[in-house]
Amino acid sequence: MNRNWRGTLIRHLALLVGACLLVGLISGHYGACLAIGLGLYLAWTLKQLLRLHDWLRERKPDEPPPDGHGLWGDVFDSIYHLQRRDQRVRGRMQAVIDRIQESTAALKDAVIMLDTDGNLEWWNRAAETLMGLKSPQDGGQPVTNLVRHPRFKEYFEQEHFLEPLEIPSPTNDRIRLQLHITRYGNNEHLMLVRDVTRIHQLEQMRKDFIANVSHELRTPLTVIAGYLETLLDNVEDVNPRWVRALTQMSQQGNRMQSLLNDLLLLAKLEATDYPSDNQPVAIDRLLATVVSDAQALSAAGNHEIALEAAPGVRLKGSESELRSAFSNLIFNAVKYTQAEGRIRIRWWADTQGAHLSVQDSGPGIEARHLPRLTERFYRVDSSRASTTGGTGLGLAIVKHVLMRHRGRLEISSVPGHGSTFTCHFATAQLASRTYPVTQDGALD
Ligand code: ADP
Repeated sequence: MNRNWRGTLIRHLALLVGACLLVGLISGHYGACLAIGLGLYLAWTLKQLLRLHDWLRERKPDEPPPDGHGLWGDVFDSIYHLQRRDQRVRGRMQAVIDRIQESTAALKDAVIMLDTDGNLEWWNRAAETLMGLKSPQDGGQPVTNLVRHPRFKEYFEQEHFLEPLEIPSPTNDRIRLQLHITRYGNNEHLMLVRDVTRIHQLEQMRKDFIANVSHELRTPLTVIAGYLETLLDNVEDVNPRWVRALTQMSQQGNRMQSLLNDLLLLAKLEATDYPSDNQPVAIDRLLATVVSDAQALSAAGNHEIALEAAPGVRLKGSESELRSAFSNLIFNAVKYTQAEGRIRIRWWADTQGAHLSVQDSGPGIEARHLPRLTERFYRVDSSRASTTGGTGLGLAIVKHVLMRHRGRLEISSVPGHGSTFTCHFATAQLASRTYPVTQDGALD
């Protein structure tokens, strides 16, 4: 194998030429002998090349190479060994792929692979039971044709896969599925689907429990608050020692009432995916009324509140839900910004959709709190919250209202330099355009 073929070849050629010249010397025809000798050598070489070609083309698996002499035999053997090695590697890789496919097939969770265009490429057995995919006829079909839930289509097209999506199973409404999508490779998608029916039921029980308790507490609390108010209205008949206690009881009663109202509102928002009301809402007018309420709330605080709202940019949705979300953000800016502070409210639309930003010159929020702010009852500083009278549910309500209106909340803040809360709404949520569009697509 490791023979020095260069030397051998030169020797063979020298021998051939020598023999031809010898025959030429005997016969007296040097030229003809040399031409015949070299021609024969060329014919033999071509014959070996043809044998190699035929073997490569018509080769059956494991068929050994044809016998060859000299360098050609070595070439045949080398190619044969390379191919055998290649086959072994391929066999090993196939075994690994088979094992991976077997283990994913045994998974209870569905695994679905999609190509760059979102067409189905491969899926395991659980995907057939959970998602109703049929093998092989669904292969190559767009996933949005097979999973027809409107929230899935929107989620897939928006490509914001940080949060999982929960939808009912296409095969059975009572099964609740959680979908995680990850992008990999050349923008292909890997979709993992889990059955979360049990967790969903527990979550539902928790929501129902809170809604029922809040509902049941409302009546007794209204009665207590009513009597306290009546007593305080006739404060001259009340023993002066009790006035302070009654005033505090009345304040705390009011706080509990707003807490119950917020809890009931959250329960209502969680009960459905979208608001039943889907009218175009004139946000500029809505903001003007919220701002005048905010000015009343500020009162002695004397905040400088500036509103810049693009007229004619209307949002489809529920006016009351949007009002409560926007007032939560604007009232928070008033509550948490020191007296004489500045608050700037902007409402505008561009090619990305519509946006509302509420910027304040308040104390700001440390970065570590930002991801948790929209959690229920999460407060940056509980001592400060008790003085502002907040329920701790305001931003949770904002988050839910935005989700129901195809929106998301972005919070940015620098401690000591104020905070900005921005609501982003998808273009699909804008009511039919009543405002001019410039040539480059930017909205006036
Ligand atoms: P709360 O009823 O306590 O205001 P929220 O859910 O509205 O509850 O807000 C959660 C927490 O976020 C608040 O307790 C407060 O610490 C912080 N926060 C909200 N808005 C602002 C703001 N504009 N500036 C500073 N902190 C804020």
